[in-house]
Amino acid sequence: MSFLPLERLCSGASELGIELTNHQLDQLDRFAEFLVEINLKFNLTRITDPEDIVTSHYLDSLTCLAALNVEPGERVMDVGAGAGFPGIPIKIARPDINLTLLEATRKKVDFMNDAIGLLGLKDANAMHGRAEKIGHDPACRERFGIVYARALSGMKVLVELCLPLVRVGGYVVAQKSSGIEEELAAAQPMIGQLGGRIERTPAIHIPGTDIARTLVVISKTKPTPERFPRAYSKIVG
Ligand code: SAH
Repeated sequence: MSFLPLERLCSGASELGIELTNHQLDQLDRFAEFLVEINLKFNLTRITDPEDIVTSHYLDSLTCLAALNVEPGERVMDVGAGAGFPGIPIKIARPDINLTLLEATRKKVDFMNDAIGLLGLKDANAMHGRAEKIGHDPACRERFGIVYARALSGMKVLVELCLPLVRVGGYVVAQKSSGIEEELAAAQPMIGQLGGRIERTPAIHIPGTDIARTLVVISKTKPTPERFPRAYSKIVG
């Protein structure tokens, strides 16, 4: 017996252009069960109903893959990954990528590393740290081909946290709800200063729901000036 409605998950993923194998469906099922189990002790997510996990966590995370193609072996980061969204479902769907999950809260980092071990995911790790610091670490600065972010912050803050981590030629993919024109316009000057450019903002419908996502795809065209990212108080100030 599976924990999740796997047929719904499989057909929903297929609508997004992603064909999941039985092994991948089993990994997604085990991850959901582990999330709900640990959530009884630590508050990791509000979403614990199996149907809701399929739509609001899994299919929603997988919209990132529908928004932007990922090359095999690509080094990708999920900034502010929380309990592992969108990073862990992306990694399960694409075992050929190299994933770093960056998260400021220790208990969430521990949860993600436990999940990585439980699922036997290779080339994946959760890292404890803050993006505004890690963005100055030579091991991470301008090292990632794609940086994902879901529910991290408003666009203006998000781009300063994420763009310094992207190599020139790479992308930030930010998951937003619809109706973000003003938020995007307000972030536009900062995106330019950081060396980025808004490429596309595809609207992607989460299969089986009436929820439309806007995925903001920002390319990095120039290196980020050394003074970014600034201290967090400056970024949000
Ligand atoms: N992406 C997840 C979690 C969203 S909540 C999801 O969509 O379910 C935002 C998360 O970002 C929190 O877990 C918080 O601890 C983390 N976070 C916020 N600011 C951060 C920063 N500057 N660096 C790293 N992580 C950060």
